[in-house]
Amino acid sequence: MAAFSLLQVPSWRRVLALSLFCLLLATALRAEADQKFMIAAANPLAAEAGRDMLARGGSAVDAAIATQMVLTLVEPQSSGIGGGAFLLYFDSETKELETFDGRETAPAAVTETHFLKSDGSRKKFYEAVVGGGSVGVPGVVALLAKAHQDHGKLPWKDLFEPAIKLAEEGFLISQRLHYLLDRDKYLKTKAAAATYFYNVDGTAKLEGTRLKNPALAATFKKIAEGGAGAFYYGEIAKAIVETVRGDNQNPGLLTLEDMTNYNAIKRKPVCAPYRTHHVCGMGPPTSGGITLLQALRILETWDMPTINPGSAEAIDLIAQASALAFADRGKYLGDGDFIDIPIKGLLSEEYLGARAKLAKPGESPLPFQAGTPVKKQGSLGLDNAIELPSTSHFSILDSMGNAVSMTTSVENVFGSRLMAGGFILNNQLTDFSFSPTSEDGPVANRIEPNKRPRSSMSPTMVFDGDGNLEMIIGSPGGSRIIGYVLKTIIASLDWNMDMQTAIAMPHFINRNGSLDLEADTPLADLQPELEAMGHDVKVRTLNSGLHGIRITDSGLDGGADPRREGVVLSGSAE
Ligand code: GLU
Repeated sequence: MAAFSLLQVPSWRRVLALSLFCLLLATALRAEADQKFMIAAANPLAAEAGRDMLARGGSAVDAAIATQMVLTLVEPQSSGIGGGAFLLYFDSETKELETFDGRETAPAAVTETHFLKSDGSRKKFYEAVVGGGSVGVPGVVALLAKAHQDHGKLPWKDLFEPAIKLAEEGFLISQRLHYLLDRDKYLKTKAAAATYFYNVDGTAKLEGTRLKNPALAATFKKIAEGGAGAFYYGEIAKAIVETVRGDNQNPGLLTLEDMTNYNAIKRKPVCAPYRTHHVCGMGPPTSGGITLLQALRILETWDMPTINPGSAEAIDLIAQASALAFADRGKYLGDGDFIDIPIKGLLSEEYLGARAKLAKPGESPLPFQAGTPVKKQGSLGLDNAIELPSTSHFSILDSMGNAVSMTTSVENVFGSRLMAGGFILNNQLTDFSFSPTSEDGPVANRIEPNKRPRSSMSPTMVFDGDGNLEMIIGSPGGSRIIGYVLKTIIASLDWNMDMQTAIAMPHFINRNGSLDLEADTPLADLQPELEAMGHDVKVRTLNSGLHGIRITDSGLDGGADPRREGVVLSGSAE
């Protein structure tokens, strides 16, 4: 079993940290040989809803729908039917991987100055986030309906039962939900959210308070009965549009036509080999898949399995590989239906081999410039989208061996802070670059009518050389998602950590700038050593929400991020 190297003279802090870590390791060994299905999700009630569908013989997609509906209710800060998502589906029979894009779209009426003030300067982030101007057409319901059409086993309407029951009977506000309600300045400024989440004196409802949401129960019933059409065509769509356009502070441009025009899209996955494995993710409009694969392929240059996990050497190499990938991300990635993305070039062995040579192990030359993956590339500028962590990820394996990896988001914590039909509306449009152009030309991720904002969400699956599924993984965390998933994959594949240990391993993140080390972990002690290598080190809280499953010879091995409230549940179908 791998452990972290604590390079310098042991101090009491290190000894304490190491003992805690070993304890974690000991409790984390959970390969479950007799279990046929498994779900890892960010909230116990949501995971239970998914588990119940799996126990009834439902498919991974059935479980994903039940889980997402409950998350809409119990984790409204992160995801819901007012948001967007990406879903990977692996079919165990055909051994095919399908990817579904349920990303929000910009209203048809937006212009490229959407996030600029009248003097041409960029709006401040929260000025743009809060209110209707940031709301894109939600994609989650269309995505789930499409996936269910192809891969559902249980009736659509049954999948809403757990969420309807909980919305009617109420659920207990969790510690994290209360904490986020308490510290949010904006949510209580919006009437619907203020009444639902706060007391009359403006204080946040306490942890343990039973919260009922009859409006959401009614919304769920309509979608359960009427399918996705009830969301995009009927009263729900009307309520969304009225809320967005009627916001008095920052009205949006969404129309009923935007709602009815929405389509979830099946896209080609992006895949690349990593040592003996095959790693697959979601293609554009998320940058997650391509950036993760670029970093992994660059890391193939070094013999990662022989490098000490958590050592300054390992962190330096992973940081430089990640920084190289992020340099390209800023320039080339966005919605591939609007811009020409040189995916093949960006992932080619030759190009990445050349990129890897720019890294200088032990003497960080950061930041890197974007490369030139194809000879004739129009001039593109760097973007300045800001991404902050909320979002949720769940991983599911059903008893037939089919799997779902889904990352789902309302973008910022509580999205735009607007609610319609009992759920939060996203602020996903602020994932576009606020400036449409930069010195070098138009920005790939600039806002345009009907376009999808670039994401960092990285739902991922790993396969062995024979195409057998080995791992399902993903995380929230804004653009740090990519680094969280990258570390976990290396820890698991190269350093043989079980899923829980790989997830819990302290984070180190580089997005082609500072090197973030996770505060209050032994890694923070490596600051001086990494600074001596030329890194601009920042020790900070890194709030991932990794949820993963490994399929091993000895059984299923699940992990839920100790940094959030998630759980792993498993069982055998009835
Ligand atoms: N909106 C971000 C994205 O799509 C995710 C935000 C988060 O993880 O908190 O990449």
